[in-house]
Amino acid sequence: MTPPQLKTLLLDARLPRLEVRMLLEHVLGKPRAWLLAHDTDPLLPEVAAGYESLAQRRLSGEPMAYLLGHREFMGHRFRVTPDVLIPRPDTEVLVEIALECLAGLAAPAVLDLGTGSGAIAISIALARRDARVMASDVSAAALAVAAANAWDLAASVRLVEGSWYEAVPAGEGFDLIVSNPPYVASDDPHLDQGDVRFEPRGALTDGAGGLEDLARIARGAGRHLKRGGALWMEHGWDQAEAVRDLLAQAGFDGVHSRRDLAGIERISGGRLPGGAPGPSEGPASVPGV
Ligand code: GLN
Repeated sequence: MTPPQLKTLLLDARLPRLEVRMLLEHVLGKPRAWLLAHDTDPLLPEVAAGYESLAQRRLSGEPMAYLLGHREFMGHRFRVTPDVLIPRPDTEVLVEIALECLAGLAAPAVLDLGTGSGAIAISIALARRDARVMASDVSAAALAVAAANAWDLAASVRLVEGSWYEAVPAGEGFDLIVSNPPYVASDDPHLDQGDVRFEPRGALTDGAGGLEDLARIARGAGRHLKRGGALWMEHGWDQAEAVRDLLAQAGFDGVHSRRDLAGIERISGGRLPGGAPGPSEGPASVPGV
């Protein structure tokens, strides 16, 4: 009898084909091209056992990102553990608006509140090597993941531990604050479905109606932003209007929202009044004075 081949695992019909391949790449430590070229290799028992244990965990609902230990975000590979939220493609729009806000500013100071894996702060730091990026989290375990990501990706980010602005040293003035805080209402049935069940509760819900942390961040931003500084926050699919109101109440101008890839208003932000004039609106120079 011929021994079983790698191919028998590649044909595992219990999981989607892409997930089977990703788990096998992970167990073997080889890229996809190698797998396909070696599919008639005899199957080593430790490979079969390693694959089977991951497949069982996947079948019981564990997210792929936790099984593999990483997830792509903004084209970078971030480590993830169950201590941090898995970066979502929807959140890339927050990084994009951040980079737009920073365009034209030299050596800008940026704060990311509740950084988790560090995906937002590190993506900004990598796109703007001149930026001074600070990132906070209340969870020391999350900060350890963020620190590992900053190291792996050679990003310069200052990590600080604490709840929201309590983590931020006094006297720091930022050009931009960004945050993807917990915004799911504690009674949202979504928390008991799919991947989300395995993610840290504290990163998903504020333990109340979903707006508590968004409000706290909006209210506190004025003490940490420079004049003309901007705040942008991610929020839930039905929270855009409420978050725009929070921003307006906190004194922000030009408050508006942006849609994510699914067309949902996913982030809202604004700017404090009194910024330095932009290049086109500067005071006319007075020659000869
Ligand atoms: N958008 C995420 C979800 O739907 C929640 C992320 C968050 O709470 N910041 O699961």
